[in-house]
Amino acid sequence: MLNTMNTGLASYFLALSELEGISFASLMFWTLQDGKWMQKALRLASQGAKLGEVPVGAILVHDQQIIGQGFNQPIGCHDATAHAEIVALREACQRLQNYRLPLQTTLYVTLEPCTMCIGALIHARVDRLVYAASEPRAGMVGSQMDLSMQPFYNHNIQVHRGLCSEHSSQLLKTFFRERRRLAKQNKNSV
Ligand SMILES: [Zn+2]
Repeated sequence: MLNTMNTGLASYFLALSELEGISFASLMFWTLQDGKWMQKALRLASQGAKLGEVPVGAILVHDQQIIGQGFNQPIGCHDATAHAEIVALREACQRLQNYRLPLQTTLYVTLEPCTMCIGALIHARVDRLVYAASEPRAGMVGSQMDLSMQPFYNHNIQVHRGLCSEHSSQLLKTFFRERRRLAKQNKNSV
């Protein structure tokens, strides 16, 4: 594949992949824009982790502009529905003053959506969903079930999975490891 690529472009890809931790092989499938938006979603996820929330970040993009973004924040907001995807959707709908999003809107999220979130994305008419890590326990876009392409919905979402999945999994693993360590520490100090 490299033989057919412009050498300058290939070294640019390599430089970017080294910089951002995206594997060179995965850049062959994803666009640079996809990589850029997912990196932003990962930064949002880290922001949530600093506040003690499970690190998940989401960004809604239309015409290469962010129209909504958010991180998982059910604890801080006292709101079971405050998943990253819902926070981003609410922001976009408020900004656009429309409960449906424009055609060709993409949601980038660092973890496979749950039942509630894929439902909300269908209601909002999101065109494309790109997620990083799979959620084997409760993921509803391939892991437990795939609700993105069911014939009984009047809208289907194009799904691409796996972009920056390693980075996202690492964030989650580090978060839960730290949480277990703190819980143990607190238990021992009682
Ligand atoms: Zn969710």
